[in-house]
Amino acid sequence: ENVPESRIDYVYKVVVIGDSAVGKTQILSRFTKNEFCFDSKSTIGVEFQTRTVTIKGKVIKAQIWDTAGQERYRAVTSAYYRGALGAMLVYDITKRQSFDHVARWVEELRAHADNSIVIILIGNKADLVDLRAVPTEDAVEFAEEQGLFFSETSALNGDNVDSAFFRLLEEIYSVAS
Ligand code: GDP
Repeated sequence: ENVPESRIDYVYKVVVIGDSAVGKTQILSRFTKNEFCFDSKSTIGVEFQTRTVTIKGKVIKAQIWDTAGQERYRAVTSAYYRGALGAMLVYDITKRQSFDHVARWVEELRAHADNSIVIILIGNKADLVDLRAVPTEDAVEFAEEQGLFFSETSALNGDNVDSAFFRLLEEIYSVAS
């Protein structure tokens, strides 16, 4: 992870969006630190974390931005989206409302982000199988209609978190280069 700046081929900005409490901060912490924090809630204010990965022989530094609670106040501004090449749009598979709001988040992206932004829809908390309120097929259908990638993840046990980020970064690489 301590890759010298000189070895980095590309820096990709990725934004994580979606309703409050769907697990955005935990997904980010799972991907960048392989951690899940049971008691943390970061302070208000936009923050990013990084992880450097190798894709098709290129060293790519993913700079992943977290809204850090601002989505509660509808304060996610266009500065947040500026320069973003990828977006992870997260809902909670146990909260139907968070999935019903996904269309609004897509509109928000289309309004504020670059046209070529690559979007992956993420159904998080897949570990909570008994509490599932959003059938996988509903999300697959929506993702196909809207031209989004899709995956279900668990930040808690780590399932599919790395693979979702890698799919997003690989797609950005193939679009951007
Ligand atoms: P954010 O507001 O979208 O950033 O959501 P957080 O990352 O703060 O997570 C909200 C709550 O959901 C916290 O209590 C987390 O511990 C919990 N949580 C996040 N991801 C998962 C997950 O994959 N599985 C389970 N069971 N709980 C999760």
